[in-house]
Amino acid sequence: KKIIIAIDGHSSTGKSTVAKQLAKALQYIYVDTGAMYRAVTLYAMRKGFIGADHFEEDKLEEVLPEINIRFEVNPKTGIAEVLLNGENVEHEIRTLDVSKHVSKIAAVSQVRKKLVEQQHQMGVEKGIVMDGRDIGTVVFPKAELKLFMTATAKDRAERRFLELKVRDENITYEDVLKNVVNRDHIDSTRKDSPLRQAGDAIKIDNSNLTLQEQFEQILQLAKT
Ligand code: C5P
Repeated sequence: KKIIIAIDGHSSTGKSTVAKQLAKALQYIYVDTGAMYRAVTLYAMRKGFIGADHFEEDKLEEVLPEINIRFEVNPKTGIAEVLLNGENVEHEIRTLDVSKHVSKIAAVSQVRKKLVEQQHQMGVEKGIVMDGRDIGTVVFPKAELKLFMTATAKDRAERRFLELKVRDENITYEDVLKNVVNRDHIDSTRKDSPLRQAGDAIKIDNSNLTLQEQFEQILQLAKT
């Protein structure tokens, strides 16, 4: 029987890595909800609504109906990539610049309302792995399997730093650590569905687990 798997947790805990592995092994659809918030952020940045020291929230709310977010499977990798008004922005949304603004964008109620509705729709057909911050609490409170991933900020920043360094040699570990800690703070203190562990979620601290160990643990849970 196909189920819904909700994976929540702090920034850079490897949610998407394990979600992709699971989706592949179970032949489920994988949805990266962070990519949706990131795509809205990129849109706002391009329009100049948000920057280092300003955020014109009302302007963003006005144009929300013009923002169309979709996923399209890349036939080469089999993984869904995010499209912003038809443009593939999968790479652009992963930069530290977007990461710096995304939590402020995600704290806007109207933005959450729009994206949560769309995410909820994606689950009408079961056989889905969705990762984010509020999947087990808000999007799919009845998901059959809920995971909450965490690791120390230092471990998370180290992993993310190694990933980002490949694309941008000017990046520093301190910048990445600051971003991880800052997003944790905004994500867990926002008024609208703050990041928290659902009562029935299984907590996974992967500070000391290899990817393979973690995957095997979780696959076992998905099958029982
Ligand atoms: O998962 P990822 O780190 O790419 O998410 C980027 C940001 O998007 C998070 O830090 C959070 O602010 C926001 N987000 C959210 N709710 C989700 C997924 C992501 O608020 N379900």
